[in-house]
Amino acid sequence: MNYAVIADAYGKIEATTKRLEMADILVDLLRNTPKEVVAKIVYLTQGKLYPDFMGIEIGIAEKLAIKALIRASGRKESEILSDLQKTGDMGQVAEIQLTKKKQSTFFSKILTVEHVYETLDKMAKITGSGAVDTKIAVLAGLLSDASPKEAKYLIRTVTGNLRLGIADMTVLEALAIAYGGGKETRGPIERAYNICSDLGRVSDILVREGLEAVKEMQVMVFEPIRPMLAERLPSPEEILEKLNGKCLAEYKYDGERIQAHKQDDDVTLYSRRLENISNQYPDIIDLIRKQVKAKEAIFEAECVAVDIETGDMRPFQELMHRRRKYGIETAVEQYPISLYTFDLLFVNGKDLTCEPLTSRRAALEEALNKNVQLQIASQKVINNPKELEDFFEEAIEGGCEGLMCKSIAKDSVYQAGNRGWLWIKYKRDYKSEMTDTVDLVVVGAFHGRGKRAGAYGALLLAAYNPEKDTFETITKCGTGFTDNDISDLHTILQNHVIARKHPRVSSMMEADVWFEPFVVLEVLGAEVTLSPIHTCAMDSIRKDSGLAIRFPRFTGKYRTDKSPQDATTSKEVVEMYQNQLKQISQS
Ligand code: ATP
Repeated sequence: MNYAVIADAYGKIEATTKRLEMADILVDLLRNTPKEVVAKIVYLTQGKLYPDFMGIEIGIAEKLAIKALIRASGRKESEILSDLQKTGDMGQVAEIQLTKKKQSTFFSKILTVEHVYETLDKMAKITGSGAVDTKIAVLAGLLSDASPKEAKYLIRTVTGNLRLGIADMTVLEALAIAYGGGKETRGPIERAYNICSDLGRVSDILVREGLEAVKEMQVMVFEPIRPMLAERLPSPEEILEKLNGKCLAEYKYDGERIQAHKQDDDVTLYSRRLENISNQYPDIIDLIRKQVKAKEAIFEAECVAVDIETGDMRPFQELMHRRRKYGIETAVEQYPISLYTFDLLFVNGKDLTCEPLTSRRAALEEALNKNVQLQIASQKVINNPKELEDFFEEAIEGGCEGLMCKSIAKDSVYQAGNRGWLWIKYKRDYKSEMTDTVDLVVVGAFHGRGKRAGAYGALLLAAYNPEKDTFETITKCGTGFTDNDISDLHTILQNHVIARKHPRVSSMMEADVWFEPFVVLEVLGAEVTLSPIHTCAMDSIRKDSGLAIRFPRFTGKYRTDKSPQDATTSKEVVEMYQNQLKQISQS
């Protein structure tokens, strides 16, 4: 098949803004394509050679494309750069330059789609020394045989700027019309795509083996499943109403979504966009090898940065340190993470995507050997708004973004690739910042783990309530302490250990060690939040809720100049919370 046919179709697609017309042009193109070339056309029209999860990109930098064009057109660099400045589009520049060349030479060869695809594929896989020069030479060769119009689309394809605006759904519809037997067959074709994320493969099976074969396509390990997405509602009442009065509420962790595929010792991790991100998480791969009992499994989890010593969750931003090519071992050490699994889609040859959530969940429990690093998302079956709100506050305070409320009805299947009402997210629609530090009293401590074994991992901190003369807990803080702080604090606090909770301390939490209120520390947090488990200013904002500080960090300042009664008061914390709300409504 001649590449000119594709270039022609691209030209027509570019000339229209109507989605239906686009689909028609695509249908024509697909119908006129020999069966064995359909998959290649499908990939190429999306500017790819393979599905994204394979991670093979053509990726030619503009600089290289310019060099190849100089070679193919025999034009000067200055001419090309000046055209580029005018148009901003290397594709157009190639078209202009080759039009000029056309007047003086003949094309040597007719470009076929197969040849273009194979050459681009070769180019994408060239590595090692001299790779750049070889790529330029190969691209220049293609361009020399190309017509101006073909060159325009070739250059756009290799530089990642094809952007025809053809969405996956348009391709699916075009495939249904051209080869499925009509628009109405899009459903099963889409389902096949949702479970394998590979439009080329689906189209290939459709044209070669027919619709029935597409319907029989199965979930397979190492072919990522397109993720199920959630709708959103603003209140517990609305959420419960939508979910028929009952749901499985789960912590909505603030990390990175991961779809893990395991077969024996082979493990691959895919991101929410289904890119292979295994390189970023060698520790998670090891963890899965050790802790996932199932021989074969596809499961989803949120990967969250944690503080090893305290077990506390850290803000999402800390995961960014894992996005690097080099020095990943150091990042693994400095920024440890935990996995909170929330769904199992496939296990030992069995596709679970059509099973209800409760069965998938039970199978998940069985497939894993949980430990500190590999857990199942905290969850609760809930049927009343108050309980949902409390669980929400608990989640926020634990460092989560809110809740995922999931249907547990019979039809609560895993809707691959769809955003629907079976999952509803409940999160706050604001972000706020705590600008002031607070001075808090150490009233208890929790044993440390890992590097902090034998020392205190986190401290239970309290604000002072002068009316009641009590110390009301407000946060658990394990961050911001240097190794020296840890050992100093251990020595200082040793003198204040008491056998049980101090009578002036009001706490709903059970600390491992209790202290008489004495030591005051300066702390900065991300924000003040409502909390069902901290007693600071209990009931003053909402019944059965206290206030807490989210993501607290010791600033390094020991407030030895302050007695515990000089610590930040509960009333001040209430004011901080109210100011925060004001700022939000003003912004
Ligand atoms: P979306 O993914 O819905 O397009 P988004 O990328 O902005 O939107 P959010 O709105 O934050 O993400 O909500 C969905 C995400 O929440 C999921 O993609 C997943 O990464 C994350 N998540 C955390 N905990 C859970 C959980 N228990 N169940 C499902 N998803 C969870």
